[in-house]
Amino acid sequence: MIDFNRPPVLGTEVEFFRKALASGRLCGDGPFTRYASDWMKERFSVRHCYLTTSCTSALEMASWLCDLEPGDEVIMPSYTFVSTADAFVLRGARIVFVDIDPKTMNIDPDRIEEAITDRTRVICPVHYAGVACDMDRILEIARKHSLKVVEDAAQGVNAWYKGRALGTIGDYGCYSFHETKNYSMGEGGAIVFNRDEDQERAEIVREKGTDRSKFFRGQIDKYSWVGYGSSYLPSELNVAYLCAQLEKFDEINDRRLAIWDYYEEALRPLAEKGLIEQPYVPEYAQHNAHMYYIKVRDLETRTRLIRYMKAKNVLTVFHYVPLHSAKAGLEFGRFHGEDVYTTKESERLLRLPLFYNLTEEEMEHVAGSLLEYPDWI
Ligand SMILES: *Cc1c(COP(=O)(O)O)cnc(C)c1O
Repeated sequence: MIDFNRPPVLGTEVEFFRKALASGRLCGDGPFTRYASDWMKERFSVRHCYLTTSCTSALEMASWLCDLEPGDEVIMPSYTFVSTADAFVLRGARIVFVDIDPKTMNIDPDRIEEAITDRTRVICPVHYAGVACDMDRILEIARKHSLKVVEDAAQGVNAWYKGRALGTIGDYGCYSFHETKNYSMGEGGAIVFNRDEDQERAEIVREKGTDRSKFFRGQIDKYSWVGYGSSYLPSELNVAYLCAQLEKFDEINDRRLAIWDYYEEALRPLAEKGLIEQPYVPEYAQHNAHMYYIKVRDLETRTRLIRYMKAKNVLTVFHYVPLHSAKAGLEFGRFHGEDVYTTKESERLLRLPLFYNLTEEEMEHVAGSLLEYPDWI
């Protein structure tokens, strides 16, 4: 069976685990965490980077740093993961979902401005599949209305917009190192931002509401409870796993891009016959091959295709069920405007296996099976 995803295995992980064990320190913010966050600051040209236990916790930190009051509104696409919304709901915000651009599956900037009210505080674009949102337009709207921008860059690690790393463009950026993402530590994430004024509050909220980070830097002689916080530090063991991938950062990206390009080329005949649509990458985006998806005619076609691929020993999967139609989405949010594309496009989208250790033989089998499918339309 060809899995939809397998976490990356480079062979050097055990060596990194051994070093972590030998250091005698497994809790957060040890040498591996310092190394990984400094490495990302440098690589992505961003002033601050804090590793977290997940992208969900990074989004929660960002939401806290946005200073929301109950009833404040956050604009985001409905076609996203639960955590994008939940992190803001936790602070009492109402979620205002707007439609996506069917070409990229990203938030449609044209739908943002009409959804703004006097309660709007934040825009949260999601870089779907590691393909950048139209950030210039989103920042322009945010500036005009004094709104914060939180980038959900869970899928956008090492993807770029006009030469800038995704996550480093808005006020706060959130990364995921979940095992389904390009770079992984099992469960993990990071928050990145550029404003120095945010550093102290970010450290407090990440360190259970204490000023322990200042204490460890020797800036104060004891630490205490100074505000709200939670426990968002990942264990050194998890970060050690990620560090093995930082060594092979480009190699992992190149391999993923090669698989992506292979699918793109191999499946073109199906697109030319009008049987599928292939992903669209705007000029301004340098994507990271987080995902390869195709879009088929409709939900029924997709359901049949998934069954056929499974019989061919290939696991292909659909993605988000739009949040505005979920039980909690109805309770905590509303859809502004008309849902022209979100539901329709989400029902057509099918993701193919794409991971670092996928073999040539496997990817040829995936594409070959699709090309041989006898039951298109
Ligand atoms: C994976 C993902 C998340 C959640 O990441 P975790 O690290 O599992 O918390 C959030 N948003 C998007 C868009 C994602 O793809």
